[in-house]
Amino acid sequence: MKLTYEPVIGLEIHGELLTNSKMFCSCSADYASAPEPNVNICPVCTGLPGALPVANKKATELAALVGLALNCSINKHNTFARKNYFYPDLPKGYQISQYELPIAERGWMDVTSPLTPLLLGEGLGAREQLRVRVRRVHIEEDTAKLSHEKNYALVDFNRAGVPLLEIVSEPDMRTVEAALDYTTKIRAILRYLGVNSGDMEKGVLRFEANVSVRPVGSEELRTRTEIKNLNSFRALTRAAQYEIERQIKIYEAGGEVIQETLGWDDARGVTTSQRSKEDAHDYRYFPEPDLPPLKLSDAWIDSIRKRLPELPEAKTSRFISDFGLTPSEARFLTSELSLANYFEAVLSKSKSSAKAVHSWIAGELMRTLNESNLSIDELTLSPESFAKLIDMTTNKIISGNSAKVVFNEMVKAGGDPEQIVKEKNLAQVSDENLIQEIVTKILDDNPSEIEKYHAGKETLLQWFVGQAARATKGKADPALTKELMLKGLEERRK
Ligand SMILES: [Zn+2]
Repeated sequence: MKLTYEPVIGLEIHGELLTNSKMFCSCSADYASAPEPNVNICPVCTGLPGALPVANKKATELAALVGLALNCSINKHNTFARKNYFYPDLPKGYQISQYELPIAERGWMDVTSPLTPLLLGEGLGAREQLRVRVRRVHIEEDTAKLSHEKNYALVDFNRAGVPLLEIVSEPDMRTVEAALDYTTKIRAILRYLGVNSGDMEKGVLRFEANVSVRPVGSEELRTRTEIKNLNSFRALTRAAQYEIERQIKIYEAGGEVIQETLGWDDARGVTTSQRSKEDAHDYRYFPEPDLPPLKLSDAWIDSIRKRLPELPEAKTSRFISDFGLTPSEARFLTSELSLANYFEAVLSKSKSSAKAVHSWIAGELMRTLNESNLSIDELTLSPESFAKLIDMTTNKIISGNSAKVVFNEMVKAGGDPEQIVKEKNLAQVSDENLIQEIVTKILDDNPSEIEKYHAGKETLLQWFVGQAARATKGKADPALTKELMLKGLEERRK
């Protein structure tokens, strides 16, 4: 009998917190801007004997903010613990983390998932809403950075002790797509909250996937493997998919999956064994004696809760109900806070519809940003000018093609759209007599094309309209041109 298997996926997300100083000392946490290795260091973050840690207040606030955004309960009494393991990037021989009492736990996040597991690239099937439980959110510290040379390694402690947040889910995901949606949504929330830049290529956000498979219908949790250090969404999906298929093959061949920690070899597209998986007892956790418990008051938690901004899900719903956008239009605009803010700023200055503004942002604006490799924050195009341009198109003062010319000019050199239209003589020609004159001339000049059109080659209409657009340098009102051209062609039918 051939069994059908389903994956069971849990995720750990590690995100550095955007604080000025490190988690337990006052050294700068901005290791990316450090002029050279081992300059942002002190006795605490290099683990010298006798040095005492002090918890970073800002990091605690940010961690609580994330906990609340993920619908967690905040533990008013939470504690630090030592996670012992020996590795050259960990100078103390242990990492300060939270174990028994994390700052936040028991939250959730709604994701969408295909009803049946799909292989990557199979397209969209029926989808369901799924509530993934967030087991815990805890504070810890990042490690130093090792660079491996030929037969030695170099260690840079600038990153050692940078505040790190770990978000651990329950193994609630049954498809790779659900895992992808979960991580995408959490990344968006971290960016909305301003606690993490989400720059995965810089390593400030990393995923770990716990994967097992079991026969469909079974409730057992089988042996899982843990894939470490997944630094992109692509790596996450490919690694999880590979691991699911690898485990199914093992079971189908009558074998057993071994609990282990795996790495992901992106070039070869395979998971590789790193070491047999440690259990919690291997780390010999014990309470950190040098740090008192964090005691958080209700008033403090309330003050953090008040700082929660409108989150992506809520913003998406509002964009749909208030602006009449479709769910996919709204999700696109709310995928980044800066994009959503820009959209609202343009819309508030514009008399055009939300759909028109969305279509300009999703089209020309995104194309320009992608081509110039700019983020929306670096854009100098003011919402006022952009809104004015969109309104000029809506009111048919300029044609769509001319609007693109003006848009490119405004992105490059700024300026007022009305002024640019004047300077470049781009105002749309809507004078019917003038367009009729051009249409008649084009028809008179092309008798053989007219014959082909009348013989059934109706696609030539577009060609005729194109000739008129060329003759007016794109300024003729396209709808009117098409109407007159069609009329002229019919009149010439014998
Ligand atoms: Zn330090």
